[in-house]
Amino acid sequence: MDDLKLTHATIVPMTSEKACLRDSTLYMSENRIMAIAKAGDTLSEYSGEVIDLEGKLVTPPFLNAHHHLYQTGITKPHSHDDLVSWLKNVLFKEEPLLDKKVVYKNALNDIKGFLKSGIGYLILQESNLFYDTVVQAVESCKIKSLVGRYCGDNTETLPDSLSESPRESLRELLYYRHKYRNNTYIKVSLSPRFLPAVTPEFLDYLKNHISEFGPFLQIHLNESQGEINLTKHVHHKDPALVLNDYGLLNDSTILPHSIYLTDEEFAILSRKKPTLTTSPTTNLSLSGAVAPVATYLASGIPVGLGLDSFATSKSQTYHQELHALAGIAKLPRKTLIPRILLSSANIAYRIFGGGIIKRGSSADLAVFSVKPHNPWDYISNHLVPEDLEFMLLNGGTAYGEVQH
Ligand SMILES: [Zn+2]
Repeated sequence: MDDLKLTHATIVPMTSEKACLRDSTLYMSENRIMAIAKAGDTLSEYSGEVIDLEGKLVTPPFLNAHHHLYQTGITKPHSHDDLVSWLKNVLFKEEPLLDKKVVYKNALNDIKGFLKSGIGYLILQESNLFYDTVVQAVESCKIKSLVGRYCGDNTETLPDSLSESPRESLRELLYYRHKYRNNTYIKVSLSPRFLPAVTPEFLDYLKNHISEFGPFLQIHLNESQGEINLTKHVHHKDPALVLNDYGLLNDSTILPHSIYLTDEEFAILSRKKPTLTTSPTTNLSLSGAVAPVATYLASGIPVGLGLDSFATSKSQTYHQELHALAGIAKLPRKTLIPRILLSSANIAYRIFGGGIIKRGSSADLAVFSVKPHNPWDYISNHLVPEDLEFMLLNGGTAYGEVQH
């Protein structure tokens, strides 16, 4: 990127609750944020193209912390479906029959929608059958993504067409990791679907090859009571205890949902600090429950918000899900939304090196057309995708046009 200076910006850097820099200047060079100056200082020592934002709001791009792009187009759950019945009767039957061209087209369309609403980071879990297809869509749209590749070997739970040996999973993972080793947008990770999908032999193999598999192992955990019962049937323990036994619980493990934790499981997660993700509208429809997100955040466990998929979420956009979270958790938006956004920003920073506006972080920014009097109130209550003017990722335009 060319050197760029944004002056007279209202910056919400996501460094702490309520943090806001008014009439600030931001200088970017070599794809990084190099300097941020307080009110009045225009960083005259740095040269480069200057854009006067005249008080417009600047935030980091947002993180959709859990999503399956390939599931767009899968039949949505009926009102009486719980997670396990939907997986068995719908997803596991329809997934092997999906058409690659349709998956690619849907993924492109959904990614463009995310970019348009200020999402710059995705944490994905994608079908092993369509992994290549989805990664190609991510690559062409240049959205920063951690793309988990589904795996599982338990044919008691999974149909043959979706299962593979742990050796094959490792081989595929290493192939993609090598292929995208210099790509600054795509990160590759392993994602066992959920514990009932893997046998003890698979987990043993994972444990013995963890240095090759890691980091950022993703696995759905405690999404419904039915899933927990299935896990106990295969592994004879509560899910988080199974992961802990195999040495798979640490600060680079990502656990979507985690709705039902026993006291013992909660104590272990509080100690090991894996990342949890929450998808409130999906959880409500497939499990009739909601994760105690505020409790998790208060105990220092990172929690990110994710839509899960357009087959299961009731929300069309990230912002709708954000507002739904506060409603479902019965907490005021002004309390919960800043906390979940800050936690999400920290997750994005750890994975992608952006998501927080600070010196040295990636030149990733969302610039809005609005000039709110109270920026945090605007973000918590009024932010709509249409207000996004442009977004930069790695200093390049990811959405909109930079107005010079
Ligand atoms: Zn999911």
